[in-house]
Amino acid sequence: MLYTMDQLNNLADNRLINGCVYCGGSAQTRDHVPSKCLLERPYPTNLPVVGCCNTCNQDFSKDEQYFVCLIESVLCGSTDPEKIKRYSVAKMMRNSPALRKRIESSKTEVNGQIAFVPEIDRINNVMLKLARGHAAFELSQPCREQPDHFWWGPLSLLPEENQEAFNSVHFQKVFGEVGSRNLQRLMVTEMTQASESGDRQNIRMLINDWVDVQDDQYRFIAIDDMGQIVIRIVVAEYFACEVAWGI
Ligand SMILES: [Zn+2]
Repeated sequence: MLYTMDQLNNLADNRLINGCVYCGGSAQTRDHVPSKCLLERPYPTNLPVVGCCNTCNQDFSKDEQYFVCLIESVLCGSTDPEKIKRYSVAKMMRNSPALRKRIESSKTEVNGQIAFVPEIDRINNVMLKLARGHAAFELSQPCREQPDHFWWGPLSLLPEENQEAFNSVHFQKVFGEVGSRNLQRLMVTEMTQASESGDRQNIRMLINDWVDVQDDQYRFIAIDDMGQIVIRIVVAEYFACEVAWGI
């Protein structure tokens, strides 16, 4: 069971996330989280938006284009626009020969399979931006400092038990920022637990589930456990990322 993109109003104290959520400068524009280039048309309604300055907005845009073109090249095993499945990405590759050339030049072979050597800094930039955007929008938490934990890579590279943990829902122990969108998404569930003496008792728990922004294209979960912020993202059911602050 996944959440869909409901319209949720942020009832939390907004002072913390005023301005550009990425750098703290003044917000001159609005930025979608995730950016539309990560999604296919028709776009989901109620796509989250956060405040953003023009500089951050422009800085991220080229790296995001690189990221989506790289992911599609990996999934399709080619930078040839004819072979790229996502229409919008094929168009991007056609319109940006330099970008295509750059990704093509990173192509290599691993065990007889086509692989691409990613540009680490650019992917760091994109994933950190997405994680900060989700933390601001969902949790009303400004996470502008460097994260304490930052991992990304193919989901399939995680050992099976780690994949299960990565994809699982989160049982919330403590309420996050009062009124945040995340808190409004949480669902109360009742579970039966056997105590040490063997008695069965019903306990109430809060379930924080993944938000399915677009089927097979983008999902995320945003967790705030007493100021420990964890954001997990899966792109195209292939690329996974986990970012944490305060752990
Ligand atoms: Zn900024």
